[in-house]
Amino acid sequence: MDSNFQAVLQKAAGQQPLSKEDIVTLLKAKPGNQQRELFALADKVRQQHHGNVVHLRGIIEFSNYCRNDCHYCGLRRSNRNISRYRMTVQQVIEASRRAIELGYNTIVLQSGEDPWYDVNTLCRMIAEIKKIKNVAITLSIGERSKEEYQQLYRAGADRFLLKHETADRQLFSSLRPGTSFERRLQCLQWLRESGYQLGSGNMVGLPGQTLDSLAEDILLLKKLDVEMAGIGPFIPHPQTPLAGQPAGDLQLALKTLAVARIMLPLCHLPATTAAGTMHSEGRQMALNCGANVIMPNVTPLKYRRLYQIYPNKAGVTDDPQQSLQKIVGIIHQVGREVAAGRGDSPKPVFQKGY
Ligand code: SAH
Ligand code: SF4
Repeated sequence: MDSNFQAVLQKAAGQQPLSKEDIVTLLKAKPGNQQRELFALADKVRQQHHGNVVHLRGIIEFSNYCRNDCHYCGLRRSNRNISRYRMTVQQVIEASRRAIELGYNTIVLQSGEDPWYDVNTLCRMIAEIKKIKNVAITLSIGERSKEEYQQLYRAGADRFLLKHETADRQLFSSLRPGTSFERRLQCLQWLRESGYQLGSGNMVGLPGQTLDSLAEDILLLKKLDVEMAGIGPFIPHPQTPLAGQPAGDLQLALKTLAVARIMLPLCHLPATTAAGTMHSEGRQMALNCGANVIMPNVTPLKYRRLYQIYPNKAGVTDDPQQSLQKIVGIIHQVGREVAAGRGDSPKPVFQKGY
């Protein structure tokens, strides 16, 4: 068993293709030496391809309305226990302006799946932000039609984050009623064809999820050849059907992140807020096993506590400036620096010389 772990780690270190079984072996790395060696390899790959810098992405959570009913998420439409809000286009532009003044070169616009924002409204939002500065704009607004994805891209959106959530089809359908895995993959394909820098990812520790299916998650990210991947622990929300279920294991989430880093060397991988919520040093740990991105929250304070995808989200009481200070502190604490520039994918096709 131990010699098998060493053999697979050697294979990984040589950038040889890893099978599902190999990935499971790495995900089983025991606390202590094995885990340390896995994290050290991921850290080395990160250093080789991304250097000593961490990219910052300022995230604006502009609406907590959602037409979906995902069993894991506090924004699900059946949750009658939250006050819903929608930021106006003007409010989003003001929040973006503030983020740009603070030095952000990427703005992430995230929301529940909220058709109230039709494609023209979203295009206007994107174009107005671009007028302030040619920052990169990432959308994380869920499933739309191919035509809408194309229009949003033409309006100036550069990147799109649509996590596949879990590659276990059965788990996917049971946790996301009314949606389908095939449709999710179709959307990812449309986004790819539209020209976006593509982001996907998955949660770790969903009830019923196996190591085998986590290996499938990583293989899917590899197949999609994503430019970014959000991999974070599942955190149960009290007003959802998964209330009372155990949270995902942070160590397992970190191991998944580490294997993803080794197998997708060029991919941007955030140290997730969920990791920072599970443990006060969760994001530092993630930065030390492959992560090279952090997404500080720049949502106006009055809306922030209402965007409760999961409870006790790290940084929920900080204003944008405080969030930034804390995160720069985390970056310096692990001996790294804040990156300059937009932090586009290092793949040549996305290097447009901004
Ligand atoms: N509505 C959009 C974007 C907002 S949700 C979408 O679903 O794509 C953003 C991410 O939050 C989801 O992709 C999911 O991975 C994550 N998330 C939702 N509930 C969570 C929970 N309970 N614990 C951890 N992450 C969660
Ligand atoms: Fe809506 Fe996204 Fe939450 Fe699902 S995960 S309920 S789509 S906000």
